[in-house]
Amino acid sequence: MPAISSKKPYRIGRSRTGLGLFATKPIKKGAKIVRYFGPLLDSRKKKDDAIENKYLFELNGRWTIDGSVRENIARYINHACKPNAESDVSARKRKVVIRAIKNIEPGEEINYDYGTDYFKAYLKPIGCKCAACEKKRKKKRAEARAEKLRLKAKAEKKALKTAKKQAAKAGEKLGQKLNGKSDGAKANGKLLNGHGGKSTASKMIAVKSGISAKPKGERDRESHASA
Ligand SMILES: [Zn+2]
Repeated sequence: MPAISSKKPYRIGRSRTGLGLFATKPIKKGAKIVRYFGPLLDSRKKKDDAIENKYLFELNGRWTIDGSVRENIARYINHACKPNAESDVSARKRKVVIRAIKNIEPGEEINYDYGTDYFKAYLKPIGCKCAACEKKRKKKRAEARAEKLRLKAKAEKKALKTAKKQAAKAGEKLGQKLNGKSDGAKANGKLLNGHGGKSTASKMIAVKSGISAKPKGERDRESHASA
C-alpha cells in the first residue's frame, strides 16, 4: 500500500501546446497534486532580479520561485482559463502547492490558472490555447459561419425576389403580347371553324342533296325501266 500511495498520480505527456501533466489516477477535489518548487529569488538582490524565464512564480513583491529547474515537475502543468486545479500559495511559507479544485479523472490534463499578469504578458498576444478558449473560438467561428450563411441566404432570397419581380414584369409584357395574339388566334379559329364548319356542312348538304337528287331520279327511272 505505501508503494502504491507513494506513486505519483500524474505523468508528463503530449498536450496541444507541447508537454503537459496528465492524471494517471483519479484525483479527488481538494487533494494536493504536486508542489511547485525551485530556488527562491529575492527581488532585492540584483543577481536574482536579473533572472528571466517563463517559470518564475511570484509569491509576493519580494520573493519569487524559479521553477525552471528540471526537478520541478509542476512546471509542465499548462495554464487553463477554466482549470481543474489551482496554485495554493503560501507567501509566508514561500511555498506553492498545486491542488485539485475538481475531481480529476485519469487521462485528464491537469491545469491551473496562471493569473492575469501571466495571461496578459504571454498568452493574450499569441491567443490562449486552453480548452475553454479553444471552445470559445470554435463557437465564435461557428457563429461567424452561421452569420455568413444567413447573410448569403438573405442575399440569395433578395436576388430571387428581384429576379421574380423582373420575371413577373417581363411576363406581364409577354403575357400581354401573347394574350393579344392568342385571343386573336382563338377568335380567328372560332371564326374559321365557324365558317369552315358551316360552309363544309352546307356544301355537304348541297352535295348530298345533289347526289341524292340524281340517283333518286335515276332510281326512279331505273325502277320505271325495270318495271
Ligand atoms: Zn484560455
